[in-house]
Amino acid sequence: MPPIVGLTGGIASGKSTAEDAFRALGVPVLDADQVARDVVAPGSAGLAAIIDTFGAEFLTAEGQLDRRRMRERVFADAAERKRLEALTHPLIGEAMDQWCRAQADAPYAVLSIAILLESRFRERVDFILVVDVAEAVQIERLRARDGIDDALARQMLGAQTRREARRAAADGLIENDGSVESLRAKVAAWHQHFLTQWRTDGAV
Ligand code: ADP
Repeated sequence: MPPIVGLTGGIASGKSTAEDAFRALGVPVLDADQVARDVVAPGSAGLAAIIDTFGAEFLTAEGQLDRRRMRERVFADAAERKRLEALTHPLIGEAMDQWCRAQADAPYAVLSIAILLESRFRERVDFILVVDVAEAVQIERLRARDGIDDALARQMLGAQTRREARRAAADGLIENDGSVESLRAKVAAWHQHFLTQWRTDGAV
């Protein structure tokens, strides 16, 4: 397994934009949100397990997981949420482990995980890289991207790990307070840092 950088950040911090910048540099990147969707794709063991547990009413007419209905079911009920996570989290973790092992030839790889700090991957990544931005900017970009109002934006931020906790957990920070171009330049600088660090460590 190559060294793994865990990339995280609050909603609309610029995590996906940073992911794209790493990909453009040729770095293998896996987005945990994508894995979470894959493990419940039609025909998957994950979807079958969910339907066994929660019932066929959580399927859409097209045979997909009805995410909205599922979200509503588990949103206000911690026990139900745990039950769902007990089915999906092991599958997500396994798929991510498998992907990491498959990147053995890369100097390093990036796992992008919004809830990295709350997940077991926190202990398993070699470096925690946090994309950070002032909350006012975060709210502005969230409103611009998703067209949601100020109150909901604040509520969504409130439901996440606090900015201070995220910064405190970081091994490295990308301050996304400038242009997208400057974000890309910061990613490129970290890329050089990782290449140098892991080459000289002999860990590649
Ligand atoms: P996340 O993946 O963390 O939710 P995104 O990368 O989607 O965040 O960024 C949120 C929004 O802000 C997107 O619309 C993105 O294009 C925009 N954005 C990201 N970084 C910048 C920046 N430095 N300047 C202006 N807009 C940005």
